[in-house]
Amino acid sequence: MVIQTVRSLNFEKRSESVPLDDAYGRVLAEPAIADRDYPALRRSLRDGFAVKSANLPGTLTVRGEVRAGETEQAPLSDGEALEIMTGAPVPDGADAVVMVEHVERLRDRSQVRIDRSADPGQFINVRGAEAQAGSILISAGTRIDASHVATLAMTGKVSVPIVRPPSVAILATGDEIVSIDQKPAPHQIRNSNSYMLATLVRSTGGSPTVLPVARDTRAALDALLENGLRHDVLIVTGGVSAGKYDLVKPALRDLGVQFHFERVRVQPGQPTAFGTRGHVPVFGLPGNPGSTLITYQLFARPALELLGGQAEPILPLLCARFEAPFRHKAGLTRFLPCRLSADGQGLRHIPWQGSSDVPALAKANAFLVADHDRETWDVGDSIRVMFKP
Ligand code: AMP
Ligand code: MG
Repeated sequence: MVIQTVRSLNFEKRSESVPLDDAYGRVLAEPAIADRDYPALRRSLRDGFAVKSANLPGTLTVRGEVRAGETEQAPLSDGEALEIMTGAPVPDGADAVVMVEHVERLRDRSQVRIDRSADPGQFINVRGAEAQAGSILISAGTRIDASHVATLAMTGKVSVPIVRPPSVAILATGDEIVSIDQKPAPHQIRNSNSYMLATLVRSTGGSPTVLPVARDTRAALDALLENGLRHDVLIVTGGVSAGKYDLVKPALRDLGVQFHFERVRVQPGQPTAFGTRGHVPVFGLPGNPGSTLITYQLFARPALELLGGQAEPILPLLCARFEAPFRHKAGLTRFLPCRLSADGQGLRHIPWQGSSDVPALAKANAFLVADHDRETWDVGDSIRVMFKP
């Protein structure tokens, strides 16, 4: 629903250029094109001897050597071998490379004996085998990882065209919220959500703006929500449940936001709401940090990825096996903090006191995804696991 709606928003993406060193994690705005054939000539894949396969098995005269970084040599003649290093150009006339381990040097070193035959083409990368000049190496809309940085460097991209990060307003709400440099009274709570959300937004490639905390009054909310709606995305936390002072949804509605859903069958996070005003997506996430984290990951993150130019939002899940029995109350899909073993195959549920339990979140390295239609898991039963952002 979020993905479909956001795709249809007609959001205008702008691009900018960044130095290659700053490109990691950004989204490529234009395809990366091969500037020449890769490899640009026939290259050896092994240290060994370049030969004519038709001469093998046999004794060959070593005509010399070619190292990586040297230019092409004269063509190989019948009965000749050329000592060759990995990455060096294979001379014309040679159609195979024999690994040095399979070659016996004769005493005067001007000859080698090779007792086996060679397949034509073996250990040679022909020109353009990896990519041909002009072909697309990375498509636009790809989030740049380390291998993409290598590709861009290989093709000489000193500066990289990237999609400009969407600007994301973050609004925490609640009369009980105080700033993190204050000592809260027992009935108060420090504003952890704004910091967590700003971090999550940055990790999704967005540019966060944290607004002042809104008190639970319509006057306070209206002004700050209107301000937030001027950004590309608005994320509100708190004030979206059914309580008497949960005023966010009526305030947003009065400001012209249309809601596409106002509840989800996920715990934590049931009261999550999603709407749009014009081309601005608006997320109302419940205020408890556990709920905020999970619902950001499930609902807001894909929207930010799309607006940030990423062609396909993805939420990678893996499977692991319980190392201790586990049960939950069926009915809702639950995302619960867990600890994955070092090999990523086993997991243990971390006891938690509900979605306000930030210390349990901090102990977890992943979330198990308990299906809504199953109650118990035995030791060794497998379950889906979501990475912790
Ligand atoms: P709400 O969704 O407004 O009912 O808030 C639920 C609970 O989430 C509140 O009682 C707070 O304990 C907690 N909470 C709300 N906003 C924040 C925030 N910005 N940072 C940390 N905890 C919060
Ligand atoms: Mg509240």
